[in-house]
Amino acid sequence: MDLTLHSDYTLNNQERIPVLGCGFFKVPDGHQTIDAVLDALALGYRLIDTASVYGNERSVGEAIKRSGINRDEIYVTTKLWNEDQGYEQAKRALEGSLKKLSMTYVDLYLLHWPVAGKRQESWRAIEDLHDRGFCKSIGVSNYLKPHLVELLMHCRVKPVVNQLEISPFNYLSRLDTIQFCRKNDIHIEAYSPLTKGLKLSDPRLLKIARKYYRSPAQVLLRWSLQEGFTAIPKSSGKEHLLENSKVFDFSLSISDMDLLSAMNENLTTG
Ligand code: NDP
Repeated sequence: MDLTLHSDYTLNNQERIPVLGCGFFKVPDGHQTIDAVLDALALGYRLIDTASVYGNERSVGEAIKRSGINRDEIYVTTKLWNEDQGYEQAKRALEGSLKKLSMTYVDLYLLHWPVAGKRQESWRAIEDLHDRGFCKSIGVSNYLKPHLVELLMHCRVKPVVNQLEISPFNYLSRLDTIQFCRKNDIHIEAYSPLTKGLKLSDPRLLKIARKYYRSPAQVLLRWSLQEGFTAIPKSSGKEHLLENSKVFDFSLSISDMDLLSAMNENLTTG
């Protein structure tokens, strides 16, 4: 099937998630976030990833309102921060996020990190928030296989997504978790898919990029797409946003996919 910027994947609860989105980590609240979200939406992106800890939910909500695009055409993700974990705190946290976003629901609410001693009661709160319609889907982030095994043993509502740092530079070190997610129908969102820019000059990546007449960033995003992940690169500039959206008119050969996947360096940028 030929993918486009408007293609999506079906999650395990039958909701749909775009194949490519935009993340807004470290984009300051105010005009920078508003402009970047408006640019992204104008270019056709429909998945916007924020988090309460990014401090820019208010501007994300404002930009979505200003865009004039129907709310139900935009996929909005936010996340429960570590300090807000716990049953009652989690409920208050989503209430606060929705207020800032000026929305009645988010499409995806993620438990940002698996905080020891708190993650199970936080998940219970998120399940209840899901029942009440405040989030259409719920998922986790930064969960490794043991966290997922624990969650699947105790959950009432299964997570639809695990958002993980994934690029060719850490793929093999995440493989155990990736395979577990695939086996259990938990969709993977790849964060920091551009390695925060750290590996864009890697000579092996540059060689593949030259072969396809593409930029290293486009090759990394195409790799992510062909792996079946939803990638959420961050860019606050229009040029990069545009460049990153142009990954649907070429495909990497199986041997180049293999070469990329073998570039593992156990990279963790966070
Ligand atoms: P990315 O891997 O997306 O890299 C972002 C960097 O790459 C920025 O410096 C950006 O610069 C640059 N860049 C973007 N496009 C291009 C391009 N075409 N060519 C060259 N450079 C480019 O890093 P992030 O860590 O921000 O990850 C993306 C998103 O994932 C976050 O914004 C956030 O939404 C999510 N995330 C989730 C985490 C979690 O714990 N769940 C943790 C970290 C991130 P510029 O802005 O100038 O374009």
